[in-house]
Amino acid sequence: MERNLPTMLDIWDKTLHWQPSDRQNQQFAQLYTAILEGNKKQNLTRITKPQEFWEKHLWDSLLGVAPFFIPDYAVAALQKKSSLAKNLKIIDIGTGAGFPGLPLAIANPDWSVTMVDSTRKKIAFILRAIAQLQLSNAEAIVSRAEALARQTPHREQYDLALIRAVGQASVCAEYILPFVKIGGFAVLYRGYWEETDTIALKTAVNQLGSEITLIKPTKTPLSDSIRHCIYLYKKSSTPDLFPRQVGVPNQQPL
Ligand code: SAM
Repeated sequence: MERNLPTMLDIWDKTLHWQPSDRQNQQFAQLYTAILEGNKKQNLTRITKPQEFWEKHLWDSLLGVAPFFIPDYAVAALQKKSSLAKNLKIIDIGTGAGFPGLPLAIANPDWSVTMVDSTRKKIAFILRAIAQLQLSNAEAIVSRAEALARQTPHREQYDLALIRAVGQASVCAEYILPFVKIGGFAVLYRGYWEETDTIALKTAVNQLGSEITLIKPTKTPLSDSIRHCIYLYKKSSTPDLFPRQVGVPNQQPL
């Protein structure tokens, strides 16, 4: 079976107006190999075919943060409130095998990326991958989001907080908004999205010190799948009550 990761330089360029360097392509390929090897010992991801891995794990990971590092992709609605900046501090909650966190750390050596997951084995995999890929700008922590967000070194310390495929949108918002500095953004990576989702999310984000700034629909370049990136602006401090005790956000969504 073909196991070489395609570089897709023209598609990166056409869709996100960005291209990886040779070194970044090499690191993407190393990550792909590490995932295939890791999958033999533990269940990391079912997305293992080369093109599918490129689209669903690499391209999709960068899509959500493209407005913050690609000048040609900057989105007017976000630009009013943010600026393209080096040295952003990012946190990725429920990162699993390192998505979206690892591709971001590769694409943005100036950003510092903290990946968090409650499963020890997945974090152990990420730590090995960080060492193999020599990523000096990435770290990985075993924790529940609800517990870590109460620790001073993490609470309201990040420019961007990201979450993909962890649960319902208002639960995700309660997990990640407490990590975001005032003036920063939370990004929810979603698939299908409807007006009723927006209404439900609004109720949650209002309580968490935030507002929905932008809902950006996109189709993925190879399989034409629907994606929505939801950008939440942090306008005031999250009340101490949030996140609620471990398990409560998921059992009783806001
Ligand atoms: N974000 C990755 C991706 O898109 O490929 C992984 C998604 S996986 C379906 C969901 C992950 O979230 C699991 O690895 C799980 O352990 C983690 N998770 C779920 N609830 C969590 C919580 N409250 N705190 C930390 N991690 C959590």
